[in-house]
Amino acid sequence: MQKFETARDAALSLRPDVPVYCFRPDVLRADARAFMDAFPGETAYAVKTNGEPMVLETLAQAGVKVFDVASPGEFAAVRAVAPNAEMLYMHPIKAQSDIRLALETYGIRTLSLDHEDEVAKILRIVRAMDLDPATLTIFVRLQTKGHAMYELSKKFGAAPAHAVELLQRCHRIGFKVGLCFHVGSQIEDPDTYERALASADWVRNRADVPLAGLDVGGGFPAEYGHDPRRKKPDIPGMDEIMSRLRADISEWGFADMPLVAEPGRVVVARAFSLIVRVLLRKGRRLYINDGIWASLSDSWTGKITLPARFIPDPARVARKGDPKVISAFRVCGATCDSVDILSRPFWLPETVDTGDWIEIGHIGAYSLSLRTRFNGFYPDTFVEVARPFEEGGAVEGFASLETMAD
Ligand SMILES: *Cc1c(COP(=O)(O)O)cnc(C)c1O
Repeated sequence: MQKFETARDAALSLRPDVPVYCFRPDVLRADARAFMDAFPGETAYAVKTNGEPMVLETLAQAGVKVFDVASPGEFAAVRAVAPNAEMLYMHPIKAQSDIRLALETYGIRTLSLDHEDEVAKILRIVRAMDLDPATLTIFVRLQTKGHAMYELSKKFGAAPAHAVELLQRCHRIGFKVGLCFHVGSQIEDPDTYERALASADWVRNRADVPLAGLDVGGGFPAEYGHDPRRKKPDIPGMDEIMSRLRADISEWGFADMPLVAEPGRVVVARAFSLIVRVLLRKGRRLYINDGIWASLSDSWTGKITLPARFIPDPARVARKGDPKVISAFRVCGATCDSVDILSRPFWLPETVDTGDWIEIGHIGAYSLSLRTRFNGFYPDTFVEVARPFEEGGAVEGFASLETMAD
């Protein structure tokens, strides 16, 4: 991979017409270590957030020993770069053949579920393999309620009384049992974890079986940009969330059992930025070489405002407008699909024009993992960049991709 000091250096040297992902391994290592230092338990990186081999490898080097996986593709991706890492199969609803693969081929011994039929599926493989159930740990996924950019509680999780039954059923079979929840992604309210812990405590007391662990899932918010014309959104910082979580864990009496967290976004968001090129400026519209079917779908659906830096093409001599004036531009994506228009503008210097580049920061989570090959466009060019995005000079604009109306 080619290495550059900044994304600007990469853009001006490569003059790329395709989107370029700028990977910052030092930032990834630092953010992973910061999480591991702050969380009082095991850190299991959620592979779906960004499962690129370069990411998994860097995390393994940084000391991440456990990975949260959900599919055969993820089992293989982790095994390929971190052969000794432990995998937690935390998708509550699994194909029978995938359970067999996990247990037989990958030696996975920790799984989650939220329904009794899933217990039967796992038991079928355990019997076929003649395994002692006590060698497996089953985490019962508990439904939670909270405020996150993405709410997953509607899709997965057993209601508290049902979770009690599942814990008792698994315990009777002889499995080790734990409790887990996942509050959704990019939480906005620091009380979210406390509500889930209170619910876990209720379930534990009713179930009255020995618990082998508690897994608090992901959801830890990453820092993004914000629209400077509006009030800064009140998203709690990592320090605040973590000290609250540590206090709540003690208060609800979970501090003495093995703890696991499954962070994704907060670990990998800052580790990548993306250089896109303006293929055409048409009035107040910018047609760029990426879009919602490639790197920008999460920021689009998640109403996330990303910081953006203008990289003017020095080869363009004539420019119109005042570079100090920041204006709104409607952004059209690369595909021929009429849906591929970002519903909120990018704010950039008025002088932006055909051939210029834009560096979009903090795009490491749910961007390249959600790329499609739609219309034949598939961004897959990577460079390594040394300096963190924040240190690459002033951020002139921001990519406000919110779908919400004002
Ligand atoms: C997606 C997911 C995560 C990671 O969530 P982030 O918000 O990216 O931290 C963790 N656990 C489970 C079960 C998930 O589905």
